[in-house]
Amino acid sequence: MSRLKDTFGRTIDDLRISLTDRCNFRCVYCMPAEGLPWLPKREILTYEEIFHLARIFIGLGVRTVRLTGGEPLMRQDIDVLIDGLIRLDPGLDLSMTTNGFFLIDKVDRLVQAGLKRINVSVDSLRPDRFERMVRRDGQLVFKIIEGMRRARAAGLAPIKVNCVVMRGYNDDELLEFVRWGRDENFQVRFIEYMPLDAQGEWDMQTVVPGRKPWHIFLRMVCFPVMCLPRWFALPVQVCCLSRRFPRLKITQPIHRTSLTTGYR
Ligand code: SF4
Repeated sequence: MSRLKDTFGRTIDDLRISLTDRCNFRCVYCMPAEGLPWLPKREILTYEEIFHLARIFIGLGVRTVRLTGGEPLMRQDIDVLIDGLIRLDPGLDLSMTTNGFFLIDKVDRLVQAGLKRINVSVDSLRPDRFERMVRRDGQLVFKIIEGMRRARAAGLAPIKVNCVVMRGYNDDELLEFVRWGRDENFQVRFIEYMPLDAQGEWDMQTVVPGRKPWHIFLRMVCFPVMCLPRWFALPVQVCCLSRRFPRLKITQPIHRTSLTTGYR
């Protein structure tokens, strides 16, 4: 069987499928408040076309598929799509990136159909800031968190949180995020603000370098341990590393590295 390779000869075994360009949120780092000129329906892949393409890619060695958007859960009957993809390859590692708005209503059907993992975008845990960042009712953040808990109970694992860090918006909330992720067993991923906003307002001054959340993490985990007497520090470290260790990833598209701890 021939395998997919990139121009450096690396084997490619994962695929992202964007199901729609539409979204019910208007994140400041993504699109203007009034939305975008959406693609006409005839230019969006039908489920039959997606099955056809996925069959070809699976035949070429793809083992991981991520469904994205826009907001993928805006597509009707997405459980039918998931079920069809899993039928193509029952061992497929099928995941989704979502803003979480529809999660609480749809997650049970998604899991039954065969979804394995999710990434949920949550940029702030505080309603006023959430509202400023996604330009929607800030109280929705509680609905999204409930949806994530429902997803956890339904068996999705791991549940990852994508948090875009922006100076002056949410950059003083990082420690709160790390603690929350640890306590809820969600894997937090801080992402540097990238120049991908359709309105072209990206500005280097708003970028928070990934080392800031990394230093917060080190202070949180290492400093208390360093302050303990040696005979006590080791058991505490073992305990941190096993159950209570916050799992964190920091993606630095601007500074071109990533920092990871206990993160799959
Ligand atoms: S970042 Fe995601 S949730 Fe936010 S507007 Fe863009 S597609 Fe929607």
